[in-house]
Amino acid sequence: MPDDYPLEPDGRQMRAMGAAAIELAAEFISDIPEAGNDLEGALEAASGLREPAPEDGTTMEAVLDVVRLGAQKSYNNSGPGMFGYVPGSGLYASAVAAFLAAATNKYVALWSAVPMYAQIETTAVRWLADMVGYPESARGVLTSGGTTSVFSGLVTARATKLGEDLTGAVLYVTEETHHAALKSAMLAGLPRRAVRTVPTTDALTMDTAALDRMVAEDRAAGLRPFCVVASAGTINTGEVDPLADIAGICRRHELWLHVDGAYGGAFLLTERGRAAMRGIEQADSVTLDPHKGFFLPYGTGALLVREGRRLREAHHFDAAYLQDVAEESEIPNLSEYSAELSRDFRGLRLWLPVKLHGLAAFRTALDEKLDLARYAYDELKAVPGIEVPWSPKLSIVAFRYVPPSGDADAANQVLLEKINESGRIHLSSTMIRGSFFLRICVLSFRTHADRMAEAVEIIQKAVAELQSDL
Ligand SMILES: *Cc1c(COP(=O)(O)O)cnc(C)c1O
Repeated sequence: MPDDYPLEPDGRQMRAMGAAAIELAAEFISDIPEAGNDLEGALEAASGLREPAPEDGTTMEAVLDVVRLGAQKSYNNSGPGMFGYVPGSGLYASAVAAFLAAATNKYVALWSAVPMYAQIETTAVRWLADMVGYPESARGVLTSGGTTSVFSGLVTARATKLGEDLTGAVLYVTEETHHAALKSAMLAGLPRRAVRTVPTTDALTMDTAALDRMVAEDRAAGLRPFCVVASAGTINTGEVDPLADIAGICRRHELWLHVDGAYGGAFLLTERGRAAMRGIEQADSVTLDPHKGFFLPYGTGALLVREGRRLREAHHFDAAYLQDVAEESEIPNLSEYSAELSRDFRGLRLWLPVKLHGLAAFRTALDEKLDLARYAYDELKAVPGIEVPWSPKLSIVAFRYVPPSGDADAANQVLLEKINESGRIHLSSTMIRGSFFLRICVLSFRTHADRMAEAVEIIQKAVAELQSDL
């Protein structure tokens, strides 16, 4: 009766819809490596989408045409030349998992409704906890992204260390901490003045002696220091704060340590990453962002808490209409650890690709990113006129052109435009200690040595042009 009930396609119709969608995806993804940024006509096409909801339906073909065009008319953000911000590259296996999760439409937040799926998600979270080096007592949740993970981390820190009284609370960050920490602190009900900025060393990492002193002074002044947010991979330069030292200070002062590993955490799979993030296992909570370093499509972040019961205490509420729900057992009720109740089955997006490809495939890809960043650093350092002050600990290289005279920031803005005009690579910029810097962040599984060599050439050529223009 497919025509009487259009919301209930039959098997043949479902296969046809799915096949058309997969055809689109396979074609689009196959073109990614050689595609550039293409925004020509995108705004006009977007304005054509402002329309009232149609009363009658159209064909799948017509709908897919819009989806296809929308994907094409965009930045090639999943491509091998994307070095701006923190690129997310989007594993196909994870997209398939997302489809299956939606198609089976199970309710994973309460284990008794679908024990195997709830266990799959719990297992995926456990894999992340193993990577961090957390004990069995650890619990965690998959979230929509890094920001919501930091948010729940800070809510847990607040509940554990401050209880209901937020007066005088102080939390410590640095200039290099991602703004997710400040935003989360605000959302968690803390005033702006509760967030203190600890100075950084020349390496742009937290100055631990200054932290120690500030905490002691704030406490002596009658304030209530309760949390430090340290970075395992800063957004500007990929630097890692001295986590073991900070953990020691936090223990001494009884502060909660949250480590933001949204960008850098996945590198724990590699030997170099582990060495850089030594001490991360001592953190009370950790943010990871599988839609960055695990190459998943957007929409998957993670929060891990070493003493898992703290996460539950900060997020669990009893409600009469949930009285039929089974208590947590071997498998947790994920909603009791989360700001969310109903939500998608995120675990499959992580679990399926790891099962299918094995962790080794991820480790190899991440090691390759570390090598490529090191290569870019070495090559750029050799270019006259370019300054590359910080050797990459992970996969971000910040650099700038230093003109013989004139406005360096303006010159670097022009340099950025020249580089991005190539269409082959895309960089973004930032301000570090008041100066304009360009950044290369290598994190796409599609980026290999050939594109990195091309990137260096493009940058060299742009610098040469800039020098002859000046
Ligand atoms: C990307 C990032 C965030 C924010 O994560 P979203 O997934 O974009 O919400 C937070 N901290 C760091 C260090 C990041 O790199």
